Amino acid sequence: MASAFVNITKDSARAWGRWLLDLVLPPRCPGCGAIVGDLHSFCAGCWISLNFLGERGCTHCGIPLAATDSGTCAACLARPPLIARTRAAVEYGEVARHLAVGLKYGRKIALAKAMARYMAPLLDGMAADALLVPVPLHRRRLAMRGFNQSLLVARELGRLKNLQIAPQLLRRKRATPALKGMSFSQRRRTVAGAFESRPGAAGRSIVLIDDVLTTGSTAEACARTLDRAGATRIELLCWSRVVHNPIFER
Ligand SMILES: [Zn+2]
Ligand SMILES: [Zn+2]
Repeated sequence: MASAFVNITKDSARAWGRWLLDLVLPPRCPGCGAIVGDLHSFCAGCWISLNFLGERGCTHCGIPLAATDSGTCAACLARPPLIARTRAAVEYGEVARHLAVGLKYGRKIALAKAMARYMAPLLDGMAADALLVPVPLHRRRLAMRGFNQSLLVARELGRLKNLQIAPQLLRRKRATPALKGMSFSQRRRTVAGAFESRPGAAGRSIVLIDDVLTTGSTAEACARTLDRAGATRIELLCWSRVVHNPIFER
């Protein structure tokens, strides 16, 4: 009990210290640390190197379209995906990775605000009763890391867009190994059935929130769970997505 109290005191002292530093220190670029004019904005160099994706690409899955495609890619036309709309703020590259890794492993919590700032416009026009649902971590991973990076981003988005967040709606009931290096079908098999839904999804429009989108197999497993629980529409919004990846193609 005493040590828990000491930890809380230390943590809040650290948070206060950081808040005070934010007041007196100039804002820094979330990509490279250079001093910038506005809080949570990029320097010119990082800005130029980022590929902002916006509403470009297939109306459903968001992948870049061939010149011959209409607004929807051939795969989505043949079989409309469970996730009705997938969007990411930027293409996964050096700067995008720096933010994702800095938040997840470097515990630089302020990076969630920078990510949300550039993701928020992609929620324009969203129904006021839509729910933002961060992709959950397994409880063991959560205990190790201490926080869910997607929840931090979802919280910021909820605040910026005045949307409700529902972090309890999905639960990762089974821990899954890192998907890196697996093929698309291996990934899909690995995460299938890893999630369960708690009451509250029925009849709702849901936006899944994640940091990095590679093949989308994790988001698809989440969407399948929410679909079974009666969600009427499921979308996915990420900070960044891998665009040129052979296993990304379906
Ligand atoms: Zn920079
Ligand atoms: Zn598509």
